[in-house]
Amino acid sequence: MTDTEIVIIGAGLAGLGAAAAARDAGRRAVVLEASGRVGGRAWTTGPPQFGGQWFDMGAIWFHDAEHNPLTGIAQAAGDTLLCSDALRQELTFVGDRPATPVELAEYAAAWPRFEAKADALLADRGDVPLAEVARHLPDDPWAATVEAWEGPVICAADADQFSALDWRRNALGGSNLVPDGGIGAFVARRLTGGLDIRLRTPARTVRWGGPGGRVTVETDAGTLTAGACIVTVSTGVLGSGALCFDPALPAVVTDAVHDLPMGLAIKVVLGATGPDRLGLASHTSVDRRVGQSGDVLMPVQCWPFGRDYVQGWIGGSPAWELARLGQAACVDFAVSYLRRLFGGRVDRLFGGGASLVTQWDQDPWIRGAYCYATPGHADARHTLAAPVSGGHLMFAGEACHVGFAGTVAGAWISGQRAARTAIAALGDVAPVATRAALSGTGRFSGPA
Ligand SMILES: Cc1cc2nc3c(=O)[nH]c(=O)nc-3n(C[C@H](O)[C@H](O)[C@H](O)COP(=O)(O)OP(=O)(O)OC[C@H]3O[C@@H](n4cnc5c(N)ncnc54)[C@H](O)[C@@H]3O)c2cc1C
Repeated sequence: MTDTEIVIIGAGLAGLGAAAAARDAGRRAVVLEASGRVGGRAWTTGPPQFGGQWFDMGAIWFHDAEHNPLTGIAQAAGDTLLCSDALRQELTFVGDRPATPVELAEYAAAWPRFEAKADALLADRGDVPLAEVARHLPDDPWAATVEAWEGPVICAADADQFSALDWRRNALGGSNLVPDGGIGAFVARRLTGGLDIRLRTPARTVRWGGPGGRVTVETDAGTLTAGACIVTVSTGVLGSGALCFDPALPAVVTDAVHDLPMGLAIKVVLGATGPDRLGLASHTSVDRRVGQSGDVLMPVQCWPFGRDYVQGWIGGSPAWELARLGQAACVDFAVSYLRRLFGGRVDRLFGGGASLVTQWDQDPWIRGAYCYATPGHADARHTLAAPVSGGHLMFAGEACHVGFAGTVAGAWISGQRAARTAIAALGDVAPVATRAALSGTGRFSGPA
């Protein structure tokens, strides 16, 4: 390992965003990645049990595509973006029957009502747990359903543990686009050009605050010294102590990490064993009215892009509990859930079929899905993103963005911002690399 200008820990969206910004500024940067691949939580696989078709284990969509910087990168490269919203059909159950048109109209009206109530509560009280909102809508039969979507499903956190202010600050509008071939494949293909990425090289200790702000990062493959360091690992990894800091991080930083714990979302995929498609068109999104706050909602995307599987999504504490019980329990849960909606044909259709359960809690370099802010601590995202040691030590990642929190876009933007701050901290030292020298494909290295 030789010295560099900026060392970046993690090759997820934030690390790649930071490295791209350094590259574009003509700065030398080395990205240390613990795992054997780039992309972090943007990871496309081709599960053999589903015929090897591409499947995103983590992120799927470019949310708010009109304002998402990754949309432009994909478009400029000529990639196809699938318009998930236009393809989607929707089916909502009330009990074991489809909702009536009147109920669907009530459901549609419940969303803006929920948001308006949240805004009123926030204006009055600064911040509240998301669960407070539904508690203030006791006569709304759909409030618990909106809560279940916005809390456990979308934000991977239980509504009573999660800041309504953070939720409102990060509410995403616009369209949702899916890069054809998967978001992880897009990241590996389009976001690594000209970068120096060392795979299978976990950073173990970050020694910061050296002369002139220098930072030394220890790995199993040696020690790297740089003028600045950008740490992009999840708050789950930061909170675990797997990455050591010497001297210890300031209390404001460790408090911010504590206030941004990881939520969990599990995808359970069930392959059809026969021609039955439950009477549903391709790309049908199935949900249901939940009875009360805390009831589990598992939205199911059925036959996405015409494929022969359904994909359920479980978030928050039920996800942690199912993850603890294991993969078979997750599959059983999903089948029983669908049986309550579609009856016994579910057992004939999925019994003995292929399945897949994502396990982001088990990945020691991630430790969950994405983080949420606890009530009263929505500003922790700003705190974590603030410069340490005059910008020689920066944190970036999905936890560090407000607006696109918990998304690939938020991670990418926060990485780029952190790099600009780190570059400013380097001072007037002339850039050592030119853009021309760094164009082309990325350089991947690291132990086999
Ligand atoms: C199930 C699921 C669904 C999602 N759906 C969407 C979606 O549809 N749209 C969307 O925009 N977002 C979605 N997200 C969120 C999105 O994937 C993340 O917000 C984003 O990818 C996080 O990027 P990051 O760079 O902050 O962190 P990460 O992707 O976690 O990158 C950090 C990297 O650091 C590495 N690392 C950890 N420790 C070390 C160490 N000690 N040394 C070196 N490297 C280390 C990790 O291996 C990892 O590669 C989803 C996430 C999940 C899990």
